Amino acid sequence: MTPVIAIDGPAGSGKGTMARKLASHFGFAYLDTGMLYRTVAYLNLSAEALSKLSVDALLQKAKSIPNDALRTDAVSAITSAISKKNEIREIMTRLQREFATHPGKKYKGAILDGRDIGTVVVPDAVCKLFITADLKVRAERRFKMIQRTNADATFEEVYENLKARDNQDSTRTTSPMKFDESYELIDTSKETVGESFSRIVKIAENAFAKAGMDIRMN
Ligand code: C5P
Repeated sequence: MTPVIAIDGPAGSGKGTMARKLASHFGFAYLDTGMLYRTVAYLNLSAEALSKLSVDALLQKAKSIPNDALRTDAVSAITSAISKKNEIREIMTRLQREFATHPGKKYKGAILDGRDIGTVVVPDAVCKLFITADLKVRAERRFKMIQRTNADATFEEVYENLKARDNQDSTRTTSPMKFDESYELIDTSKETVGESFSRIVKIAENAFAKAGMDIRMN
């Protein structure tokens, strides 16, 4: 069985930062599933077109789009809307499982982050983390990031957009973002990146040790 870390949580919680750092720490392959959903939305891919792609082919398409273009508020809103579609989610789930089970020979395991990774995509992952933070803190983090590329952005706008997306992602009928007891809950509101990361590394090491899996780097 491939060692897998599943991370879910709302936008701006720090889950992407934690996932990237964990992947490099443990030598795992990382899949940002939000980026895949954004790519589907940006390219307006139909379920039929998507069903013909492998996860590698979809990643190639994602790489051809500038990161900033994928992360605008407009693309975020369209992504949240298209990701409610059942036929899209079914194919995306298959592609993400393909990644989780075959992360590539040079990797010791896989880390996926998103909204339904621990509930639907890989519910039996050895380590499941739900990373969150207060809405205000998340909006502040997002605002700082957006300001670099968009001087007209306002905090209120960013706050309201995040709130709407949280609501949409957690109330949809298909695979809503949902915390349950099988996750470790990590609130990063009052922590630095370093503090959250040290805490999470320990949680992951314990989870893998308990499952009898050695994930230390050689
Ligand atoms: O993580 P990120 O904010 O980039 O995700 C963008 C959007 O993609 C989310 O708001 C959500 O609607 C959708 N998404 C999803 N399921 C995932 C990952 C992302 O529905 N596993």
